[in-house]
Amino acid sequence: MTTELIEIGTVPEAWTRTDLLDLESLTAEEITLILDTAEMFREATDGCTRRLSVLSGRTVANLFFENSTRTRTSFALAARRLGADTVDFSSSGSSLSKGETFIDTAKNIEAMGVDAVVVRHRTPGTPYLLAQNLQCSVLNAGDGPHEHPTQGLLDILTIRQQRKEIAGLTVALVGDIAHSRTARSNIWGLKKLGAHVIVCGPSTLVSRAWEELGVEVAYNLDEILPRCDVLNLLRIQFERQAMRPFPSVREYAHLYAMNGQRMAKAKDSILIMAPGPINRGVEVTPEVADGPHSVILHQVSNGLAVRMAVLWLLLGAAHRGEY
Ligand code: ASP
Repeated sequence: MTTELIEIGTVPEAWTRTDLLDLESLTAEEITLILDTAEMFREATDGCTRRLSVLSGRTVANLFFENSTRTRTSFALAARRLGADTVDFSSSGSSLSKGETFIDTAKNIEAMGVDAVVVRHRTPGTPYLLAQNLQCSVLNAGDGPHEHPTQGLLDILTIRQQRKEIAGLTVALVGDIAHSRTARSNIWGLKKLGAHVIVCGPSTLVSRAWEELGVEVAYNLDEILPRCDVLNLLRIQFERQAMRPFPSVREYAHLYAMNGQRMAKAKDSILIMAPGPINRGVEVTPEVADGPHSVILHQVSNGLAVRMAVLWLLLGAAHRGEY
């Protein structure tokens, strides 16, 4: 698949997907095409600030059944920047509370002429269920602890911008690996592009079973720190845990928070990332989160470019020849 000659309005013939459900099933070429397309949109829109009309006449519905700040806003803005209309659906106050099934609700929204639904749900697999039951494109915006493909893509795009190549880098995902959809999407994407991935955290949140995916498992951040090119600091997902996985938040911060002292042991070129929301003082201290190595806000900006890219590619493949 060549990624050099993308013109706006012409989705490459080799791109055939109409849904984005995960990064596990994407090839390295498909991931690279999305990243290249995101860069193209970033340039074409002066850093995602200008509006294009490549999706004019299309409608994108946000179906969020879990809280979200960045992802929901970012998908809505990305769709609008490309000229699409957007609809925002909230589960509270909807007919779901009157007993309507999830599939019926989604089918009714689709029947209003929606071309794509962006879904976030606490149950893993929900986007797959929708994709089987709807004709329109389905984009996974986070299914429980399973995957969050656009988060993985925007993280990888941010690393690529700073380091040019993903292959050969050592990237550590630190924190609540067990419950993190960001971790899963990053692992699939980074491994496909040739990075060495380390998952690091307390043993109650990082199982040895991760080694089966070809990642390194580590329990001591101070030991791995000097070899890391990138640290992605994941939030402890208290809302997904039945029991607290460590004695106290203070102890967790003592062992795993990225702080000024630890920065002194890291490479001079280290990149500090976090998917947000960040809990200052738990996984990262303010001096590091706001310091010169942090690319946390770049990640948020890149989210817009990545979501423009995937919306355009998926809708382009679904309506090939109509644009
Ligand atoms: N915003 C990310 C997610 O929705 C990470 C997090 O919530 O900690 O998965």
